[in-house]
Amino acid sequence: MPTPLIAGNWKMNGSRALVEEFAQAFRDADLSPGVEVALMVPFPYLEAAGRAFAGTPVALGAQTLSDQPAGAFTGEVSGEMLDDCGARLVLVGHSERRTLFGEDDAAVLARVKAALAVGLTPVLCLGETLEERDDGRTEAVVLGQLEAVFDALAPDERGRLVIAYEPVWAIGTGRTATPEQAQAVHAAIRERLGRYGDALAAGMQVLYGGSMKAANAAELLAQPDIDGGLVGGASLKVDEFLAICQSA
Ligand code: PGA
Repeated sequence: MPTPLIAGNWKMNGSRALVEEFAQAFRDADLSPGVEVALMVPFPYLEAAGRAFAGTPVALGAQTLSDQPAGAFTGEVSGEMLDDCGARLVLVGHSERRTLFGEDDAAVLARVKAALAVGLTPVLCLGETLEERDDGRTEAVVLGQLEAVFDALAPDERGRLVIAYEPVWAIGTGRTATPEQAQAVHAAIRERLGRYGDALAAGMQVLYGGSMKAANAAELLAQPDIDGGLVGGASLKVDEFLAICQSA
């Protein structure tokens, strides 16, 4: 069984004060050593978060990265910079990046490779829209997004990813997938990963995201193929986020 991972995604929210508040809470918290915790903070807070969270079990991450290593790309942030500032993980292919910033499967793959090239762990996000679900295309869409990346990676690279299944209709809507709906897709993801190797499939952390909160985390995390959560809105409230970490 993969170690459970609870990752908070602050999106374009938060402040230096919130970084300090979370760091204090995690210094005092009594977290099970059997759970991994990560926080994806906005770029400007990464370095301060690195200092604030030192000595806590919380790993830091970013929410996107450039597909280029360096150069004349005004406004972009490279994987090497993230690594330099203490990030260990980076979200890639979040649905907001796919829909609002036009990142298609090729763009997602390029960012996964850019992250791997500097030793960051890419958290590859997959998910269908409500329309795609209603059309009965959930598995085709999600597994297609998965294969677009995994087919193009070398065998030794594949095991360095984390996957997050996030049904687009459940993100920020308060409408969570039922544990059964989520488990069905997670099982399909794990089965498809088996094409790349049984050990890879068994060891891959596959997180659920989409309106996860303290009140529904335990039943989602109890599903056999759900290995953690990618938490948006509920990761901005320290008590709520800690409660989710404690239910994993
Ligand atoms: P949510 O966001 O928990 O607010 O639904 C999850 C995500 O987008 O990662």
